[in-house]
Amino acid sequence: MQVKTFVVNHYEVNSYLYYDEDLKEGIIIDPGFYFDDEKEKIFQYIVDKKLTIKNIINTHGHLDHIVGNSYCKKVFGSSIYLNKNDWFLRDNVLDYAETFGFQLKALPDIDYDLNQNNKFIIGNNEIIILHTPGHSPGSVCLISHKDKFIFSGDLIFKNSIGRTDLPGGSFDIIINSIKNILFKNCGDEYLIFPGHGEKTSVLFEKENNQFLI
Ligand SMILES: [Zn+2]
Repeated sequence: MQVKTFVVNHYEVNSYLYYDEDLKEGIIIDPGFYFDDEKEKIFQYIVDKKLTIKNIINTHGHLDHIVGNSYCKKVFGSSIYLNKNDWFLRDNVLDYAETFGFQLKALPDIDYDLNQNNKFIIGNNEIIILHTPGHSPGSVCLISHKDKFIFSGDLIFKNSIGRTDLPGGSFDIIINSIKNILFKNCGDEYLIFPGHGEKTSVLFEKENNQFLI
């Protein structure tokens, strides 16, 4: 499985394309594609690699992570998943989009609730979902136990954690999600692909992250 990272929109979100190069299928995680050149880049990449995009998965409902939902659905024809606890963030988006520098004509698309019952098969790989609230009530992590990869959204970053001052956020809950949900399910050797910034590992964060020591 390959990971291609696109750093997009003015919040520098990591939008990930996670794909099987041989079987030519993949998923898009957190499509933050907003500017035209960002949309062209992912489109061209997927055309060049001849990939089918099976699903579009949002780690949580903040606009910088979901703003490209409708574009990706339209162009790649895939269904969009977001945990139901975060649908309110999408539903209120037109009230606050402009404040955050986004011009939107309509709400970003969502098709299905994303929860711990969902499993996504990409190539020979299975991706499971952990509900890890705290940054927002519906935040999730995507886990590949085969690759030992974590897509953490804004739960945890290299040397930091997600902010907890936005609607539905909680410091105690985010710390619990990291220590008692994520780290209990994923060993030290797992790599973390966060929603912003460079990738890290469970071990590195256990040893260096001031919020967790
Ligand atoms: Zn966020």
